[in-house]
Order: sequence, then C-alpha cells, then structure tokens
Amino acid sequence: MYDIVIVGAGPAGSNLARLIGGRYKVLLIDKRDMENENPQNHFHKCCGGLLSPDAQKMIAKLGLGIPKDLLVNPQLFAVRTIDLTNQLERLYQRFYYNMDREKFDRWLVSFIPDNVDKKFNAIFKGFTEIPEGYEIRYKDKGQEITAKTRVIVGADGAISKIRRTISKDINMPETYIAIQEWYECSNPIPYYTAIFDEEISDFYSWVIPKDNYILLGAALRPRENTREKYEILKTKLTELGFDFKDKIKTEGAFIYRPKKVSQFYVGRDKIALIGEAAGAISPSSAEGISYALKSSAYLAESLEEGIEGFLGRYEHKVKKIKLNILLKNLKSPAMFHPFLRQLAMKSGLQSIK
Ligand SMILES: Cc1cc2nc3c(=O)[nH]c(=O)nc-3n(C[C@H](O)[C@H](O)[C@H](O)COP(=O)(O)OP(=O)(O)OC[C@H]3O[C@@H](n4cnc5c(N)ncnc54)[C@H](O)[C@@H]3O)c2cc1C
Repeated sequence: MYDIVIVGAGPAGSNLARLIGGRYKVLLIDKRDMENENPQNHFHKCCGGLLSPDAQKMIAKLGLGIPKDLLVNPQLFAVRTIDLTNQLERLYQRFYYNMDREKFDRWLVSFIPDNVDKKFNAIFKGFTEIPEGYEIRYKDKGQEITAKTRVIVGADGAISKIRRTISKDINMPETYIAIQEWYECSNPIPYYTAIFDEEISDFYSWVIPKDNYILLGAALRPRENTREKYEILKTKLTELGFDFKDKIKTEGAFIYRPKKVSQFYVGRDKIALIGEAAGAISPSSAEGISYALKSSAYLAESLEEGIEGFLGRYEHKVKKIKLNILLKNLKSPAMFHPFLRQLAMKSGLQSIK
C-alpha cells in the first residue's frame, strides 16, 4: 500500500517525488528510462530544451543549480522574431539556458530519495476506486502489475491519461500538435528564432540551435493539414536563408494551451494533477518547465500537513499560477493578433538595433 503514486517523472513528477519522498511511501512510474541514456527507449520528451528566466528562478527557489554538462551550445541572449504575415523582423534581448532536455530530466530524477520506488520503462494503464483509495495498474517488462495507494498524482503531461479519466474531457485546454525536426548545421545560429505566420498557425514556430544541430519546431492546430503547413513553413524559412537539408530526426508531441483559467484543473477526490497535465503551461510561449516545478512545489507544500484536505490547500496555492495564466492571456493579443503585433514590432520598442 503506497501513500502516493505519481504517474510521470518529467520535471513536475520528479520534483514532487524529491520533495515528498522523505515523508511518504511513494511509487513513481514513467514509460521513459529516466536513469540511463537509452536510445532503445522510443519514448522521448520532445522539447525545445530552453530554460527560461522563470524556470531559472524556480531552480534557484528549490535550492538547485544547473551543472554545466546539462548545457549545449550556444547559450542564448536574444530572440530573433520573424513575422512572416507582416514581413517584419526584430531582435529582442532574452536570457535562456540552452539544455539537453533528456539530461535535465535525468538530473532532476537523481535527487529523488532512495526510499521512493521508481518504476521506469513502465506504462501506467489505469486505476479503479477501492475503499482504501485506488488500485492502479501498470505494465512493467510485459507484465501487468497492480498496486494500492491512498492518493494518485497525474504528472503525465499533455493529453494526461489521468486527467482524461477524471474530467471526462470537460474544460480541456486547447491542444496543439508540435512537430519538431532536427537538422545538421555547420554555421551555428547565435539566437533563438520565433516565427509568427497566421497561414501556418495561430500559435507560433521556432528555430533553436543545439550544438551541431538546429531544431525547427511548430505548434499547429490538430487536424488542419499539419504536415502540409509544416512543409510550407520550411519552404518560407529556406527562402530566408535557413538550411534544412540534412535531417537527423523528426519528433512530435502535444502541447496544451490554456486560454481560460477554468482549463487549469487540480483534480478531484484524492487525485491531483500537476504540471502540464493540470494545464500549467504558458499560453503565450509554451514554456512549461517553470510551471511544472512550481505546481509540484505547491502540491508538496499542501501535503506537508498530511493527506486529509490536501487538494483544497493545493487549489488555494495554485491561484497564483492561475493569475499568471490569466495575465499571459491578456498580453497575448500583442503577440498573436497580426495588426497589434505589427504595431508592436514596427515601434521597435525594446528591440536590439
Ligand atoms: C515541442 C515542445 C517544445 C517545448 N519547449 C519548451 C522549452 O523550450 N522550454 C520549456 O520550459 N517548456 C517547453 N515545452 C513545454 C514543456 O516541455 C512541458 O510543459 C513540460 O515538460 C511539462 O512538464 P511535466 O512534468 O508536467 O510533463 P512532461 O515533461 O511531459 O512529463 C510527463 C511524463 O509522464 C510520462 N508519461 C505520460 N504518460 C504516461 C503513462 N501512461 N505511463 C507512464 N509514463 C507516462 C512521460 O513519459 C513523461 O516523462 C515544450 C513542449 C513541446 C511539446
């Protein structure tokens, strides 16, 4: 019998396991191999791997510091913003750590206390209610295993199985499909590029340099000719001088975009959601690492007083994240409305000459 089963060992789940592992009997499940570099494991976190100033602040608050071997070249101090709709371009000062995302996740996992039971390369299948709490099912090395627990935490990211089970698809954040391709690159680009083009997406696309590669990613509306739009984007950027010849790999993932505060969902009964599963992610930049760390820290604080009433305490604490999401949505038109974006970019305000 576990006190808490955490599904997902991304930044949200592993940070929670790190913070509550000393106090509770915890089982942490992830389908990825979170302890070894494992090219055989085809579950891989598709991510830009940029650590934003908000995420840096959370790392500081948690009393951690990023080791240099998590970083990749170059560190990024500017975002080149290309508005293809309005044919405008600006360079803005920004501060990002450029990281190897898989290494970052394994680094967070390395802090989890030894008494936490970790099941990696294991797939969570579902749960049923029992008088003491829940019986969960997961698949490990081809075998279906069950475990009992008082609390379940869904830290299983966008398209969370746990969220879909308990919320019956009500108030789901808007969901985008991200396609990201890696290309070899001999001329490193010294900035992160954000591309806005309403023909491609009402969200945005990006180019990120990573050591000897560049990543071309786009967040696209599902079922709206995603592959075709991605190819159009590639053609347009090639015309601007980007080189997308030597492809190494293609990856994809869903991204939540919470456009309403009501789409942030903490869970129900003794089931809590944290990180992107809860809808904790920036609706304007899709930056999710800081939100994953923050929501998991709030849940850990809520569990300090015990399991009884923890969800109410958590719901109270996440009001700050909800307010942040509200403010980001209020600011969004300046980025995502073509006319307002044109005004902002033409003004040159805060841009680097
Ligand atoms: C293309 C792309 C680029 C992004 N770039 C950035 C960026 O540069 N910077 C940034 O801050 N954010 C970025 N994000 C967002 C960020 O990756 C997420 O918001 C963040 O990882 C959320 O953390 P999490 O712990 O909540 O979930 P995740 O990191 O998604 O972790 C969920 C975990 O649950 C596991 N899991 C899911 N289902 C199951 C199951 N059934 N059984 C077992 N395990 C399961 C997964 O394997 C995974 O390890 C990007 C997202 C995408 C899609």
